[in-house]
Amino acid sequence: MKNWMSLQADLGNFQYRRNVYVFALKMSFLAVILSGVIIALTIPPLGFLGLLPMTLPHAIGFGAVFSWLVGGTVSGMLSLAAGFTMHELTLSRAEFEKLSRTDTLSGLLNRRAFTEALDNTEGDASLVIFDVDRFKAINDRFGHACGDAVITAVSAVLTSTFDDLSVVARLGGEEFGVIVSGEPLEARMERIQAVRASIAGRPIAAEGHNIAITISGGVADLIAGRNKQQVYASADRALYLAKALGRNRVVHEREGLQHAWHGLAENGPGAEGRGTGSDNVMQAYGI
Ligand code: GH3
Ligand code: MG
Ligand code: MG
Repeated sequence: MKNWMSLQADLGNFQYRRNVYVFALKMSFLAVILSGVIIALTIPPLGFLGLLPMTLPHAIGFGAVFSWLVGGTVSGMLSLAAGFTMHELTLSRAEFEKLSRTDTLSGLLNRRAFTEALDNTEGDASLVIFDVDRFKAINDRFGHACGDAVITAVSAVLTSTFDDLSVVARLGGEEFGVIVSGEPLEARMERIQAVRASIAGRPIAAEGHNIAITISGGVADLIAGRNKQQVYASADRALYLAKALGRNRVVHEREGLQHAWHGLAENGPGAEGRGTGSDNVMQAYGI
């Protein structure tokens, strides 16, 4: 009985109003059947003991009518009230779930939801970490509200560029993460480069200013069996390299390694203290 009732009250079912009515109807029938059983078990013994104020068939008839009218109606109404409370709870739980996964400023997924999506990614995809270049200077020069407008505008470009197969999130501050799926690597890289170019070529209008911005990106490959944390760390290193190499560029992890080796050859032993961009590249790769 307990199992049967909990089956009727599976929380997910209460998302739709129609299911609340179905639940109330089922509970009414259950109440009627149960009261029918109780009446059938109690009235005949009372009849044999002569405690009924009417004949046995009349008493059973009244019992049946009352169980339908009173039992069915009362339990139906109570179930409706309980069902609608569950309906409201289900909706607010869904809303809360959504809020806990959404970044308020941009409306994109937040870091928590992105990490989940990353963990659940199967098959080939590219992980990109984008970061707005010299964002602090934008805040300092135009104000925090303009900085916020830049974050919103970049979010809109990312959302419109990547399709539903991709996951776009704001990881924090002026940093965004994208999981690009569903295309060969070259096509994915083209699309990622296109976003960078599109943002660089389109100043953002905010509070009477036209703010020219650029973004840098680091890309790493999500391949089946590869540790997700390593992929993230590699994309992050590639982003660091993109910054070190002058910003407004996208660096793929493989390209990053090539730079690191060139830097090593260029600087070589005895070339310390030159202070080139390659130094930063090598630092990022721990060379
Ligand atoms: P880089 O090119 O190396 O990325 O330099 P940067 O100036 O973009 O990077 P830095 O990390 O020095 O500065 C990031 C700034 O972003 C600092 C912080 O005050 C600002 N910031 C973080 N979150 C927000 C936000 O929600 N709104 C605004 N307007 N600014 C933010
Ligand atoms: Mg930045
Ligand atoms: Mg940053």
